Amino acid sequence: MAKAYLGLGSNLGNKKANIEAAIQMLANNEKIKVLKISSYYETEPVGFKEQDWFLNIVVKIETLLDPYELLEFCHVIEGKLQRKRIIRWGPRTIDVDILLYENFYSNNEKLTVPHLRMTERAFVMVPLFEIEPELKLNGENIKKILEQLKGQDIKKLND
Ligand code: AMP
Repeated sequence: MAKAYLGLGSNLGNKKANIEAAIQMLANNEKIKVLKISSYYETEPVGFKEQDWFLNIVVKIETLLDPYELLEFCHVIEGKLQRKRIIRWGPRTIDVDILLYENFYSNNEKLTVPHLRMTERAFVMVPLFEIEPELKLNGENIKKILEQLKGQDIKKLND
């Protein structure tokens, strides 16, 4: 089984319900075991600013799917939850990204892992740090990477 981290985000409709539905779909896949789920974080949109704040979480899974099969399944989740992609970086019902997959490295348009610019984004790094505080990325401690992202607005949602 391979360990992987997924980033989930929503900023359209009932955001928490969208993310919960996506987690349920992950958990219902017999080739995926959900190991850890971060808290929910409200985060400022990156890119296209004239939109509602996002709700983001990070999930740690164990899976028998290879990275491309996992990507396909992320797309199935997005399709089932009727993600509408009208504007690039614009509003979305659900976005499911592969952040890390074991030591797998890929750098093409279909699949870039580790996920592009993840270390620059508080909405990824804060929940990732919460569930995996000892993680190293490119040999650097996640805590150190986080310290460089202090300016970004991110609020932990109360349970
Ligand atoms: P976005 O609209 O930012 O979610 O981008 C979706 C597109 O990014 C899809 O066509 C994916 O094939 C591609 N993509 C590249 N790398 C990844 C990744 N690590 N996780 C999810 N989608 C990815």
